[in-house]
Amino acid sequence: MVLWLPLLSNAVSTEDASVSIQTNVMPELLVITSIKPLALIAQAALGDSMNVEFLQSANQSAHDLTLSASALDKIHRASLIVLVGDQFEPRVAKVVEGIPGKALLQVLDLPIFGGGVDVHEGMHQQTVDPHVWLNPYSANVIGHAIQSAFGVSQRDIISDSQIEALKKNLEPVGTLDYISHHAVLGHFAKAFNVSAGMPIRDSNGGHKGARSQFLLRKAAYNGGAQCVFVEPQYADKDALVIAGELNLPLRTIDPQGIDAPLTENGYAQFIQTLVVQFQACFA
Ligand SMILES: [Zn+2]
Repeated sequence: MVLWLPLLSNAVSTEDASVSIQTNVMPELLVITSIKPLALIAQAALGDSMNVEFLQSANQSAHDLTLSASALDKIHRASLIVLVGDQFEPRVAKVVEGIPGKALLQVLDLPIFGGGVDVHEGMHQQTVDPHVWLNPYSANVIGHAIQSAFGVSQRDIISDSQIEALKKNLEPVGTLDYISHHAVLGHFAKAFNVSAGMPIRDSNGGHKGARSQFLLRKAAYNGGAQCVFVEPQYADKDALVIAGELNLPLRTIDPQGIDAPLTENGYAQFIQTLVVQFQACFA
């Protein structure tokens, strides 16, 4: 569900015009996102003057978001809440939907993601890959939706020329392969024409069966995976073991942008850093 905000029109309504002019104070607008990457997008979309906060803590995976008391308080104070989707963040969605009139934007409800696009994981276990923020074209669509919710005119948070430059940087490694902690880079791979890699876990961070593990090792050995990506939020034994077995280097990649700044250029910087981290696998 997407509930559009009448915030700016309230602030300039004719009835309150004299009050607004006297006090000249805009109500404090606060955007709350579930995970850090969506905060990067919201801050870039709305500019440095907007208050954007997120619920995910630095050591928490995007896949198991829990809600502290301060997170609940943030939700209550928020003008707009942005989630990936209620399948992905059911606990947050339930709280938000229990507050009447709370404006909620669910990214997976946006037209480009609707109708089961980007479904993978094979015929029998279809799940939507939630890592949509890793495709910069999609991030621009999300940014536009957030801008529209505040009646702000639409502009991109990362330009076509920035994306093209990154694509060019990745051209030499486009056919090379790697192992990833989980199936996290599908959207990134599609945007930048690189391999989606061989994931140890599925797109929700869940364990795969023994047969999948065996096939992964075999494919990585035959297909020439060049490194094993690990993520800062996961202290992952599986990745260490597989890297050891196949004699591959470990490389760190942070698809959640925990160190990226919440600024107008923060999203573009995040993607640029991610590309550098990705390239390091093949250096
Ligand atoms: Zn993930």
